[in-house]
Amino acid sequence: MEHVIGVIPGSAPRLLMAGQRLAPAADVFPDLAPDPVGDSIWVVVAPSDLAAPKGAKWVGARAALPVLPPTTQPIALRALAVANWRQTSRFCPNCGGPVEPNPARDGYICLREDRPVFPRTDPCVITAIMDGSERLLLSHAANHPAGLYTLVAGFVEAGESLEAAVKREALEEVGIEISQMRFVRSQPWPFPGSLMASFAALAVSTEIVVDQDEITDAAWFTRPRLTSLLDSGAITLPLDYSVARRTIEAWRSGALTWAQHDLTA
Ligand SMILES: [Zn+2]
Repeated sequence: MEHVIGVIPGSAPRLLMAGQRLAPAADVFPDLAPDPVGDSIWVVVAPSDLAAPKGAKWVGARAALPVLPPTTQPIALRALAVANWRQTSRFCPNCGGPVEPNPARDGYICLREDRPVFPRTDPCVITAIMDGSERLLLSHAANHPAGLYTLVAGFVEAGESLEAAVKREALEEVGIEISQMRFVRSQPWPFPGSLMASFAALAVSTEIVVDQDEITDAAWFTRPRLTSLLDSGAITLPLDYSVARRTIEAWRSGALTWAQHDLTA
């Protein structure tokens, strides 16, 4: 089955939707040639001011993805990731030469050197830091809406392992030293080009020191205290669909504990 997906790329990309489904973008923009992505996906990359055709609407991808059927989500995620990468990678990174889409590998071929250029993905770690009593550490970032608390997260630096990034971010952002960790789950997050890897980690100490730059507040939460703060509206959590939210909800439900090793939340 072929999918032709309309995308407006960027850090807040949009998808062409008809109700709760992807709109068939095949013939609606005759001036925009679809780019092949893999064997069966075509992406129509649209400029940000392009009006949607009748019966369709440009919808922010963060809002659109959760309503798509589970079988369509990975297709949309792939189209978004490729469209976003292509938008910011229009020349060969080696020689600066012109490129054209290379459907076999989702990337480009450099026309000057005849060499493939592959899409890049930026890994991020996101960590459910727990203490020995299974309290969860949530933090508020300076650039987040008021009251939004989430897990400690950050980009993996060049030449760094995921594990080292988990330890570094915990120390830098909230002053917590991690003794043990394990992988929980991952999720593509093409806003614009990340792969989120979530971990559960055990804190050595419980004294929080926020960096006051990126993070302005952080605290330990028990399950009942978090529920009561959410019920009163004092704090909010990230989007349902995000790996951060899924990991937090796994902890809230008791599925994510430090002792339990089966973590398919
Ligand atoms: Zn080149």
